[in-house]
Amino acid sequence: CFAEFEHLLWIFSKTFIKTLRSAPKDETARGAQFLIRAGYAHKELAGVYDYLPLGLRVLERIKSIIREELNAIGCEEVLMSTLQNPDPWIKTDRWDIEKMDIWFRTQLAAGGELGLAPTHEEPITNLLKSYIKSYKDLPVYTYQFQTKFRNELRAKSGIMRTREFIMKDLYSFSASDEEHETFYHAVEQAYARIYTRLGIGEDTYQTFASGGVFSKYSHEFQTLTDVGEDTIYYNADRSVVLNEEVLNDEVLTELGVQRNELESAKAAEVGNIFTLKTKYSAPLDLSFTDRDGERHPVLMGCYGIGVSRVMGVIAEKFADEKGLVWPESIAPFKVYLIGIGEKGMQQAGAWYQGHAGSIFFDDRDLRPGEKFADSELIGLPYRLVVSDKTLAADSCELTTRATGETKIL
Ligand code: ATP
Ligand code: MG
Repeated sequence: CFAEFEHLLWIFSKTFIKTLRSAPKDETARGAQFLIRAGYAHKELAGVYDYLPLGLRVLERIKSIIREELNAIGCEEVLMSTLQNPDPWIKTDRWDIEKMDIWFRTQLAAGGELGLAPTHEEPITNLLKSYIKSYKDLPVYTYQFQTKFRNELRAKSGIMRTREFIMKDLYSFSASDEEHETFYHAVEQAYARIYTRLGIGEDTYQTFASGGVFSKYSHEFQTLTDVGEDTIYYNADRSVVLNEEVLNDEVLTELGVQRNELESAKAAEVGNIFTLKTKYSAPLDLSFTDRDGERHPVLMGCYGIGVSRVMGVIAEKFADEKGLVWPESIAPFKVYLIGIGEKGMQQAGAWYQGHAGSIFFDDRDLRPGEKFADSELIGLPYRLVVSDKTLAADSCELTTRATGETKIL
């Protein structure tokens, strides 16, 4: 049934998507313009986007990679509510708009207020009070993919900074510092594998960032890109990379580098990992009984990845003047298939039938030049062209989008 659905959807003439000649005027970043023009995303209003069939497929493929790597280190997926009860947020002092200026709030018809979740430390901590009682119930590692709402002052760079976005948020609950550290390192390594599989491993650095109240540093994962909002500093072999906010004499001494050894670059934060210790478990009273019958607050960590931001960063980074260039691991389809001429179209159609799901078949009644231009805009890894002419030579042409290189097969 699913194969049938895919088969019908991914013939170009059967989808509702059309490539557009222009993007909204206020959309300045190149990747964002292409995402809209190529039919991956639609702009509802500033900082609010819809994902169309092609874009949804990219998001789902990014999520699959993250899911595989997190499941492999023992994490359990959940899906929590977006509507938020103020109570736990009041207990941690984060309900106050003065403290958390990015809240979206709404009124209940029956009276009272609710929030739209900007993050989930409070509700997940509160939820686990029903399940964590003793050291035997620990550790717990839960994550989700979910829509977050943030009343950001400025929306920027298309889907890179929005007011509604998809985040993967993971929370860890441990009985000891040692257990927490071990998991924290496992996440560092899982993140490195995730960014490598997403095709941005070489340009993504784990940076020292400001740590908040309890640990000296947190870590961020920053991907080099000209449209990034952050500036990172790195030494020659890039063994020390740090965020601007921790660039001070004390930190430099501790990391054993000097200011004049560091170069700077623009980057976008694609993920972060935090040691929280008892920041949320203490006020929300999430505790466990140890072997000796003593009560302790649970030790927590939180670990985010901006799923939709990652998509925006990848779109931006790899785009060229003609359009998007997706890494194979997250491209919505592998091959953009074009048939030219009567026999070419027939052959393309026959191939398509045998490969539904990995081929996007441009069967539209358009000039070849228009199809070529759209194939470059949409940015699938390969373009396969079969025409009456290539068939006469018993061949077809395979072009790699990233290099423009064509092979006769
Ligand atoms: P930033 O400094 O970019 O505002 P943050 O410190 O608020 O990020 P978290 O609250 O930890 O980030 O969110 C986890 C991840 O979600 C971030 O690393 C980022 O990739 C992504 N993210 C955060 N805010 C947004 C947003 N407004 N739009 C899209 N993605 C976001
Ligand atoms: Mg933020």
